[in-house]
Amino acid sequence: MSKYVYLFSEGNASMKNLLGGKGANLAEMTGLGLPVPRGFTVTTEACTRYYNDGKVIAAEIEAEIYQMLARTEQIVGKNFGDPENPFLVSVRSGARASMPGMMDTILNLGLNDQVVEGLAKLTNNERFAYDSYRRFIQMFSDVVMEVEKPRFEKILDAVKEENGAKFDTDLSADNLKEVVKRYKELFKAEKGFEFPQEPKIQLMEAVKAVFRSWDNPRAIVYRRLNDIPGDWGTAVNVQEMVYGNMGNDSGTGVAFTRNPSTGEKKLYGEFLMNAQGEDVVAGIRTPQPMEQMRAVNEAAYNQFVETANILENHYRDMQDMEFTIEKGKLFMLQTRNGKRTAAAALKIAVDLVNEGMIDRNEALMKVDPKQLDALLHPNFEPKALKSAKPVAKGLPASPGAATGRVYFEAEEAVEASKGGEKKIILVRMETSPEDIEGMHVSQGILTGRGGMTSHAAVVARGMGTCCVAGCSDIRINEEEKYFIDRDGRKYMEGDWISLDGSTGNVYGERLPAIEPEMTGDFSTLMQWADEVRTLKVRANADTPADAAQAIKFGAEGIGLCRTEHMFFEPDRIPAMREMIVSRTEEQRRKALDKLLPMQRSDFEGLFREMQGYPVTIRFLDPPLHEFLPQAEVDIEALAKEMEMSFEDLKGIVSSLHEFNPMMGHRGCRLAVSYPEIAEMQTRAVIEAAINVNAKGMSVVPEIMIPLVGEIKELKYVKDIVVRTAAEVIEKAGVKLEYKVGTMIEIPRAALTADDIAKEAEFFSFGTNDLTQMTFGFSRDDAGKFLEDYYAKKIYESDPFAKLDQTGVGKLVEMAAKLGKQTRPDIKLGICGEHGGDPSSIEFCHRAGLNYVSCSPFRVPIARLAAAQAAIGGGGLGQK
Ligand code: PEP
Ligand code: MG
Repeated sequence: MSKYVYLFSEGNASMKNLLGGKGANLAEMTGLGLPVPRGFTVTTEACTRYYNDGKVIAAEIEAEIYQMLARTEQIVGKNFGDPENPFLVSVRSGARASMPGMMDTILNLGLNDQVVEGLAKLTNNERFAYDSYRRFIQMFSDVVMEVEKPRFEKILDAVKEENGAKFDTDLSADNLKEVVKRYKELFKAEKGFEFPQEPKIQLMEAVKAVFRSWDNPRAIVYRRLNDIPGDWGTAVNVQEMVYGNMGNDSGTGVAFTRNPSTGEKKLYGEFLMNAQGEDVVAGIRTPQPMEQMRAVNEAAYNQFVETANILENHYRDMQDMEFTIEKGKLFMLQTRNGKRTAAAALKIAVDLVNEGMIDRNEALMKVDPKQLDALLHPNFEPKALKSAKPVAKGLPASPGAATGRVYFEAEEAVEASKGGEKKIILVRMETSPEDIEGMHVSQGILTGRGGMTSHAAVVARGMGTCCVAGCSDIRINEEEKYFIDRDGRKYMEGDWISLDGSTGNVYGERLPAIEPEMTGDFSTLMQWADEVRTLKVRANADTPADAAQAIKFGAEGIGLCRTEHMFFEPDRIPAMREMIVSRTEEQRRKALDKLLPMQRSDFEGLFREMQGYPVTIRFLDPPLHEFLPQAEVDIEALAKEMEMSFEDLKGIVSSLHEFNPMMGHRGCRLAVSYPEIAEMQTRAVIEAAINVNAKGMSVVPEIMIPLVGEIKELKYVKDIVVRTAAEVIEKAGVKLEYKVGTMIEIPRAALTADDIAKEAEFFSFGTNDLTQMTFGFSRDDAGKFLEDYYAKKIYESDPFAKLDQTGVGKLVEMAAKLGKQTRPDIKLGICGEHGGDPSSIEFCHRAGLNYVSCSPFRVPIARLAAAQAAIGGGGLGQK
């Protein structure tokens, strides 16, 4: 029979999959002899079973929960529901991967009308007892019974106002009794029955609610953004309550062993006296920095510092800890490897190696490749920054620079983003987990309230999004959608502002940004990555400027140069259009002659920038209509420019119309119809290589034929390439090596890869088209309905961003194998979007590819992901 419930004393840190991160670490700390309130964990398997059984808790699991409850009661010597000696618990979720703010917590469970009286007598603290009860009613009603939190907050605010109380702590016991009375009335009015008084029912309902919360919309979004599978489930931790709200000798806090923004080795955190956990995280009262705790309670502070050191040494990583002090005594409520900014992640990883705590491979596994993104984007230009005047200052909660238009609601930010807005700053009084999607589409987040561990700060750091929190300099009116800066200027929705997440400064204007540099810890870690990885990393780059950026980020070649991008330039498009509208081969050749020198000089630029690294040039790919205007007025203007009649041009445009252009006359099919295009492109590539090699380089160009599905079509185009290249090389009287290969982006090419490899010297998997054609849905339109698929749990992630290993991956693996059968030294790469996605890179490593190719900004991400794949063991990027 399966075991579904474990006492903390029965588990350990290695049982994370079963007990969730929080449960496994509570068990580990218990084992280490640290002061952890006692309790038990209901496993993630119980959660998956709950879903499999149709959202019910099986009788045997329920019995096991009660059995473990009884054992815990025995251990602590208190009883559930006993007013004389009450046992109160917290109920918290805890998945395998931490999902901050995504799941729900209930504190003080076990209270009812009798127990609260008993608690008041026992603690000789009526105020505390009723403060705990009102918190419990609110949390239980919100999380378990779906009576919304703001309705309770309104009552609390009203009682505060009636009694002239500024803070919750100013309320007397009688005031709190009144709050409890009104809360219960609200509950009854909403639900039609009394607030549940039986603690065992409270517990079971709470466990179910935590299980349910695994599937709430914000958890689903968080999982998708963080590659967390939906079938993992969450564990539930039931733990004896300790109280930070017992008076001024009690308190609660959150602290990190190192600074999560900078990585500096110094205890960092915040605490609040006379408060419970959610007061710190919710950012309602502004907490005090950790150092001040020494003055408040030196003994507890020293014990905490000692515990923090034990934990960091034990886990050999920066720890994020929650603690409570109850009447001067310290209790640890949680520890976990702390979330950190990208810069902190790099510094901590390198420092831990230098301190002899971990080795280089362990350091490489500690940094989430996706997080590096935050360091690979621009910062404000120092000069502009110097002359700009901040209009407000808040806490530097998550570093980076952001410029954008102000939005006051998460949903509106999402809408704006869907409408194409790329620069969004979300301004909120404080954020809550419901805002997750809006936060994700924003370049920056500005909050009026809350500290460095407030929801906005934690989530923004995790996302690598710039955040300025707790900015009390500004006055926000969320309802009327404006804010006023400290000089009295009013900002409405759509106005531009800039945020500096490293200083906390807010600017009332657009500030220019500059490109990032890879120095210090970043380059150290990248060097370590390069030493272990076996996958090469190339970039997708079409211009010399992209190529230069790619080299700067450590690219070892160009895996895809999309030549059509060169034809869209304003000085080239006329010749391109002339080529397209040509009626005869002769006319077409004349237009191509104009394009030749332009292409040649583009390629020379690329070859020069790439300093002898391999460069893969893909021949013309898109359907030709993309180069022509579609609207009548534009056609008319172009006809005039091209000195042809409107009717003729319109006729050509309509003749190019296709019902399904993505599956139409594109890719190598263009070269089959118009061989002279392939001839011109071959000539441009070969002549460019000859020219740069004459100046001392040794370029071996790689010509790539797109959209091949049949060996004969590849051979047809390849023959043109080989014939033309031979002519050019002979005429120049030089020797030049070059390669001809193909993209594998049509399922038929993958299926017949052994054949295709007879002609192709290399394969590059075009997983954008391969995904499109394998799934049978359009890469441009799928976004419209994929949301429905996520909501209905049919797909968990966007297959155009994260490679579908089950289906598309099978084709890749098969084609790689078949290709090698025919040509053992065939070079294999990937150049679809997936080439920059860590989990897809891990797949490419396993499938035996030689390189991945991605956008220049993702090159460092790919280098680290490739290193993690080589080290193995499921790195951060490989969930
Ligand atoms: C692909 O299909 O994966 C690819 C890289 O080509 P494109 O995106 O240009 O179609
Ligand atoms: Mg393609």
